[in-house]
Amino acid sequence: MSYDPSNIFAKILRGEIPAHKVYEDDVALVMMDIFPQSRGHVLVVPKTASRNLLDADPAALSAAIPLVQKVAKAVKQATRADGIRVAQFNEAPAGQTVFHLHFHIIPVYEGVEIVA
Ligand code: 5GP
Repeated sequence: MSYDPSNIFAKILRGEIPAHKVYEDDVALVMMDIFPQSRGHVLVVPKTASRNLLDADPAALSAAIPLVQKVAKAVKQATRADGIRVAQFNEAPAGQTVFHLHFHIIPVYEGVEIVA
């Protein structure tokens, strides 16, 4: 499968449609998920044009993963969550709906069920 630059995250990265951005650097954009699975659910969206993890350039992943860790730690601290789920889906049968590589950072609160 190839990368289609008309996907919604590519449009957000190009500034064509708005998003609630919480952080941005040369590597990635971090934004609130429009349909959060829990309070504080954010998405780390690397800026390189990859459909998902399967076609990602390893060098781009090397840059993105430390940011995923940094965001997970920051979100845990900011939300006071009890745990953090990091999720990432590859192709529609696996649950991917937006075909630009991204990582879900989902705070988990004890006693609160995640709405997937
Ligand atoms: P996937 O299933 O592809 O891993 O997840 C895509 C995520 O993107 C979903 O959690 C969905 O709520 C979120 N999403 C879809 N469209 C938009 C949008 O326009 N803006 C933002 N911020 N999130 C979106």
